[in-house]
Amino acid sequence: MGNWKMNGSNSMVKNLIKELFNEGEDIQRASQKNLIDCVVCPPFVYLQQVAELLNQKKDSFLQLGAQNVYCESEGAYTGETSASMLQDVGCRYVIIGHSERRQIFGEENDLIARKFIKAYDTRLIPVLCVGETREERESGSTFDIVRQQLQAVMDLAPIQYFERAIIAYEPVWAIGTGLTATPEQAEEVHGYIRGLVTEYHDIASQVRILYGGSVKANNAADLFSKPNIDGGLIGGASLNSKEFLSICRAALVGV
Ligand code: PEP
Repeated sequence: MGNWKMNGSNSMVKNLIKELFNEGEDIQRASQKNLIDCVVCPPFVYLQQVAELLNQKKDSFLQLGAQNVYCESEGAYTGETSASMLQDVGCRYVIIGHSERRQIFGEENDLIARKFIKAYDTRLIPVLCVGETREERESGSTFDIVRQQLQAVMDLAPIQYFERAIIAYEPVWAIGTGLTATPEQAEEVHGYIRGLVTEYHDIASQVRILYGGSVKANNAADLFSKPNIDGGLIGGASLNSKEFLSICRAALVGV
């Protein structure tokens, strides 16, 4: 899943999608065999444009996601976007609780949980981001933080929602910093997350858990080789078609 964050322009969007289609025929074939789900999350203003570009391609392997959503259905919420609007323009996925939303925009666990439920109830696939800061890791509270972030959602949402929803473990210290969690560090937390879901329901083995944090073509294969890492949430590297497609290829190794 590529998170383009606040990057792009009309022409950049057009070129990037064109390059992904031209260079990604192998991923297209893999997607037709249901071996991979490949999603791009452009900024809101380009969602419609990307949806149209994807519709022009027969059996596009790229699916559409949004980077955020609001928890109410409609009304006086200036600047916000509802889940049904995202549906309406063709989104299938939405990122919820990205650490940049938590840190820069002050989103807290309760709001994130309400967004998660609204997205799910509107038939979107919520991608719930959790992860600790550097200070939290250094003080040994990674598991506590991840547990609190997940618990806030599990307290409000039926656990069955995780059959379709996706969890993304994104250590804040690794996002956009060039520092990546080692495959072992990531696997440890992914295993912990799967264990937490197991406490509630036996669907845990089916829950998809993505890793995010400076994933690049040269480290993706090692991360994805771990049993509890089911894919990636890719920021910076998703803006480059070659990098992004190489990461998709790494996800296919051993599938
Ligand atoms: C992200 O935006 O979720 C992310 C992981 O960014 P980057 O890959 O640039 O670290």
